[in-house]
Amino acid sequence: MSRSITELARANVRALTPYQSARRLGGNGDVWLNANEYPLTRDWQLSQQTLNRYPECQPAEVIARYAAYAGLAPEQVLVSRGADEGIELLIRAFCEPGEDAVLFCPPTYGMYSVSAETLGVACRTVPARADWQLDLPAITAQLDGVKVIFVCSPNNPTGNPINPDDLRQLLAITAGNALVVADEAYIEFCPQASVAGWIADYPHLVVLRTLSKAFALAGLRCGFTLARPEVIALLLKVIAPYPLSTPVADLAAQALSEAGLAQMRQQVATLSENRRWLADALADCPCVASVFPSETNYLLVRFTAAEQVFKTLWDQGIILRDQNRQPGLSGCLRISIGTRTECERLITALRPLPGAGTSTEQA
Ligand SMILES: *Cc1c(COP(=O)(O)O)cnc(C)c1O
Repeated sequence: MSRSITELARANVRALTPYQSARRLGGNGDVWLNANEYPLTRDWQLSQQTLNRYPECQPAEVIARYAAYAGLAPEQVLVSRGADEGIELLIRAFCEPGEDAVLFCPPTYGMYSVSAETLGVACRTVPARADWQLDLPAITAQLDGVKVIFVCSPNNPTGNPINPDDLRQLLAITAGNALVVADEAYIEFCPQASVAGWIADYPHLVVLRTLSKAFALAGLRCGFTLARPEVIALLLKVIAPYPLSTPVADLAAQALSEAGLAQMRQQVATLSENRRWLADALADCPCVASVFPSETNYLLVRFTAAEQVFKTLWDQGIILRDQNRQPGLSGCLRISIGTRTECERLITALRPLPGAGTSTEQA
């Protein structure tokens, strides 16, 4: 009996819906506000030309600089092909397929489920509360068999940081049984909310970071996992032998130099100012029902007629991210903060669109 190639694949891979990245969804725009990228790039020069040699698995300079930036020791830092690889390594190292589960709280980042499903690991979901904070009683009731809990803070796509007291409680109820992974992809926009300093207190706390957002290096594919050395050592067992190419390590080290960090902080200041301007301008548009508070480089916005808004802007080359199908986010679109010119183009396109009804939920 002969089977098709597709039938030869693992059942969970056949059933898998791949991550719908902004890039995969496409579009024909000139104002890209759908992937939480920084809107501009700078010129980069490679300083390493030794491409005949294999790279270091964990480039020492990158590790040392990120550790200094995060206030940790080098043994507490792992560098990988984006934070997304960190998510997968954690599940691979800690979850037995068909046995253990990961837990997360929708609406949230989509890669937790994609990575778990790819690896044949069950996903347990506990919806966030109406204020998008953790539902701790519901999580407590769902912890059986859970090995890894992903908490995105600030949360993508809602923009809110998670209450630190709730995170402490979560760490207390999971101690000895599961890892708590704080995904801090956007933490540079609210650095005071980081829990990286708590790694000293909690052996089961892991923090994910990236150069893709505030550092304006989404194309570089470079992310970090911060944790106790025991956790890092386990992840190093399952990581690829050469996860970062020599050019990636070279540019990452430059981005983490004193000058690189100063530039990143300038980028954060610029985007945060644009975000405040855009939030105010959106609140004055008739088609906007609510603008939710955000401490990130994007805004979640509820529209009175989200589908028409999405389509109208798409046809004008302004590409947003549809969040309408996430639980609790009907009518919501996510808007990455662009340059001031891009924000103005967005508002110019939105202002003429009709509204329906009113809301008092505005940030
Ligand atoms: C963008 C993002 C990531 C992925 O970062 P990469 O380093 O580009 O893989 C991880 N988590 C969240 C919440 C994100 O928004």
